[in-house]
Amino acid sequence: MRRRKFLTTLAAIPAAAAAMHLKDLARLAEGFSPTPRMPVLFLGHGSPMNAIEENTFVQGFRKIGSELPRPNAILCISAHWETRGTRVTAMAMPRTIHDFGGFPQALFEVQYPAPGSPELAATTQDLLAPTPVELDESWGLDHGAWSVIKHLYPDADVPVVQLSLDRGLSARQHYELGRQLAPLRDRGVLIVGSGNLVHNLGMVAWDHLNDAYAYDWAAEARTRMNALIMAGDHARLQDPHALGKAFQLAIPTPEHYLPVLYALALQQKDEEPMLFNDQPLGGSLTMTSVLLR
Ligand code: ZN
Repeated sequence: MRRRKFLTTLAAIPAAAAAMHLKDLARLAEGFSPTPRMPVLFLGHGSPMNAIEENTFVQGFRKIGSELPRPNAILCISAHWETRGTRVTAMAMPRTIHDFGGFPQALFEVQYPAPGSPELAATTQDLLAPTPVELDESWGLDHGAWSVIKHLYPDADVPVVQLSLDRGLSARQHYELGRQLAPLRDRGVLIVGSGNLVHNLGMVAWDHLNDAYAYDWAAEARTRMNALIMAGDHARLQDPHALGKAFQLAIPTPEHYLPVLYALALQQKDEEPMLFNDQPLGGSLTMTSVLLR
């Protein structure tokens, strides 16, 4: 890189620079231009059918997408990629993964041919040090990523990289990893967590699958989670099962909840969360999504 450009770049992002190694900074500077701080999203993805159906949730995704500045790339933390150790997709052209069964053929035919970004993968790996992160060549984009990102960027022209959820980490450790991603926001990277805050598939009320019905415990968990998110009480949110029975039922397994911790970990002092698509569904799910900017 030209020395003058590099030095100018260094001067432009003093806060981020403090936390980064020089080589990380050089790599970012080569790949992505500095930008105003990018927003952060958590998206409640719900059914894979949201990829091809028309409903208020996809309208909500589209509306948010139209209001966001155009990112240089997206880093997505999806509920549907759990691994041993942390991995980041590093291929130039990730495949569209149809990681579900029992849906119409039309859903299996959806392709989301967004490019990857080996540069962003390598930078993410560096930023998360000393936690080891493997560059992954075998995953791609799972439906937690493409079924919602396709509504934000229907032309698939923004590179997308996925970061996996290490099954071996505690919620607190996931939150801490999320914090380390902060410098990406100043390089035009849109960080998107994709899951569902209340997600108990074993208790779905099938006769209410398409309406805003909530069991009492799901309604309680939604109300209290929303309040904690709005209050910025991240300490409590990092230990949700300690908050009682409603939270234990809402989060029977951690994978759909953890992506919100990556998003909240990136909240800055001058940012207030905005909730959208904030609806219960099918008794035991919520579609609540969060925008931070
Ligand atoms: Zn899911």
